[in-house]
Amino acid sequence: MSGTINLSKSIKLLQSKDNQSIELPTYCRKRISSLQYNKDSETLGIVCSKCGESFPILKLEREIGSQLYWKDLHDENEYHFMSETSGYASECMNCKNNITKKVIKKQIINDEEKLSYTVFLTAKNKRYLQLYKIVYEEEITQIINSLIDDLSQRKPIEVNKK
Ligand SMILES: [Zn+2]
Repeated sequence: MSGTINLSKSIKLLQSKDNQSIELPTYCRKRISSLQYNKDSETLGIVCSKCGESFPILKLEREIGSQLYWKDLHDENEYHFMSETSGYASECMNCKNNITKKVIKKQIINDEEKLSYTVFLTAKNKRYLQLYKIVYEEEITQIINSLIDDLSQRKPIEVNKK
């Protein structure tokens, strides 16, 4: 679109189509370098820091008496507005959801790989385990796994493979 400008900190006022000056709402200023303004359509867009896509957030409207004001255009499903103090998120909802999905997937994989138990040890064994950890520089998990490896070799259990 022609007439779209990228905003920066030095820009304090924007011009409407009929060349009136208007200030940006303060909550926009945090992400000012991600904002784009189009004078022809009098709309303000925000560019996602991840995918680079632009989303409309504000549009100039006129009250009776031609007083200008910013009308909220943003769609929470597209781009998250945090609050008047925090302003807009740095990423669009699409990118944000992709990241959350990845994190959840990673957690599931990790949980499948690990089984955790709470084991109550005798004082003697606990002391031995702690010393072993220091002397052989092995983690408790590693020690217990190698103990089970030894045990399973000495006392194998046949499992019928289906
Ligand atoms: Zn995005």
